[in-house]
Amino acid sequence: MTETASSDSCSICTEPVEPHTESYCNACGRLFHLNQREDLPGRDCGTVSLSETHLALVFACNACLEEPAEPVAPTLEAVLDLSEAALATGLSEDELAEAAAAGQVSHRRTAGGSLLFDREAVEALLRTRGTA
Ligand SMILES: [Zn+2]
Ligand SMILES: [Zn+2]
Repeated sequence: MTETASSDSCSICTEPVEPHTESYCNACGRLFHLNQREDLPGRDCGTVSLSETHLALVFACNACLEEPAEPVAPTLEAVLDLSEAALATGLSEDELAEAAAAGQVSHRRTAGGSLLFDREAVEALLRTRGTA
């Protein structure tokens, strides 16, 4: 008797997948080995991790792991000074300073007297202005 494992072979190494190593990649949907039992031998042809956003296990086969990750957006400065924030919002520095003084946008004032804004707060201000 020969095993019919045509549909149960790993997409990575093409070896048959045992029930305890059967995993499906969340990216490509293909079957791959991932040993889910510490008490049994098994190979790993991918990884599993916990997604913090979805609070779910995320399986990824080695083929998908090796794909170049999505280009990471350049990290934007999280803190803007008054002129940067004015540029980002399209407001004048005076308007922005007034908005800050009126408590419409959370800000910090440095020891030197300049205003600093969190980018998120500036974006939130833009949104409220946009819908007003
Ligand atoms: Zn495999
Ligand atoms: Zn995959």
